[in-house]
Amino acid sequence: MTASDYRKDFPLLQNEDTIYIDNAATAQRPQAVLDAVKVFYETENANPLRGFYPLSLKATESCENARATVRDFIHATSKKEIIFTRNTTEGLNLVAYSYGLSHLKAGDEIAVTIMEHHSNLLPWQMVARQTGAELKFMECETDGTLTDETIQTVINEKTKLVAVAQVSNVLGCVNPIEKIVARAHEVGAVVVMDGAQSVPHMPVDVQKLDVDFMAFSGHKLMGPMGIGVLYGRKVLLEEMPPFLTGGEMIDSVTREGAVFAELPYKFEAGTVNAAGAAGLAAAIDYLNQVNFDFIQEQELALTQRAMEGLAKVPHVHVMGSEDPANHTGIISFTVEGVHPHDVSEILASDGIDVRAGHHCAQPLLTYLGVHSSTRASFMFYNTLDEVDAFVKSVASIRRRMG
Ligand code: PLP
Repeated sequence: MTASDYRKDFPLLQNEDTIYIDNAATAQRPQAVLDAVKVFYETENANPLRGFYPLSLKATESCENARATVRDFIHATSKKEIIFTRNTTEGLNLVAYSYGLSHLKAGDEIAVTIMEHHSNLLPWQMVARQTGAELKFMECETDGTLTDETIQTVINEKTKLVAVAQVSNVLGCVNPIEKIVARAHEVGAVVVMDGAQSVPHMPVDVQKLDVDFMAFSGHKLMGPMGIGVLYGRKVLLEEMPPFLTGGEMIDSVTREGAVFAELPYKFEAGTVNAAGAAGLAAAIDYLNQVNFDFIQEQELALTQRAMEGLAKVPHVHVMGSEDPANHTGIISFTVEGVHPHDVSEILASDGIDVRAGHHCAQPLLTYLGVHSSTRASFMFYNTLDEVDAFVKSVASIRRRMG
């Protein structure tokens, strides 16, 4: 199978007028995912976990099958470690509000990297504010590298929690999670990994990485919007207080209080997005079928072609590593003298969809001295022809700006 074969599975990509290369923001969905959501609503729709009638049992089964698919996909040890959320942001907030507020205190430190998406920064700013803990930043080199020295010094005996993205949504670089985890565990800190940009593009094994928490979004890996996952190590989740409270997450309730449900339901207050979970499971099945070897090979070829092309265009600067293999399909760039919003509008006029702005990573852009940038991000279903059209359009921008 080639990328062109896989493209046929995506209804939206059949529109020949659009070159969609904003996949880091959200991916497109194959028919199998759209079908899974439809099948849920047409044949299984009832409130899962609530009823004892056959339809509700079917909805519960669908949801639990999806949980098992996620468990296998990220190599968690148990379904109890898989919590359905709305997205990465909610998963990270769950850890911050539940674990962070109950475990940190004044004098403690939280270590984050300078390249975190705001979703993996603001929750820790909140925890620092409310507990008196201090936020410390691991600063990177311009290519995104976090040096051993930075890891060893910023993570120290005072550090209680380390929050790090496996892949930066701006630079696309892959962070040295094993080294960070080793150092964090050496000093007794837990590691919260943001997997939003890694899980769709590379095999992620939470046991091998030995991370304590990991969040990702369904919509970035071709699943529906509104469904995400938080993985948590069981021993930690068990002793954490609930994040949200209400229905579905209780065992029993009296006038005075409540006994909370067992894992993972303790962290799933209210009706879960069961159709979303079914769609997510279908997306994972699809991803497994395409397989990561093909995905990585294809995405590297696209990145390579784009970087080679952009290198020949005067006044264009690609951020991050010079090695296309350390971009995970993400290319953020600037065009001298042209605002990224203008860059993206000109690309849009050529039918090319990219993202422009600070990419929800303002501290990184400030640190690198770049106000904003344009970002192209590829998925295995993009083609070399699309990359060539993108490069051609970028090459024409300064002339078209007059
Ligand atoms: N973390 C990273 C690295 C991201 O790229 C994004 C989204 O772009 C998020 C977190 C937030 O994802 P969501 O909006 O699905 O919660």
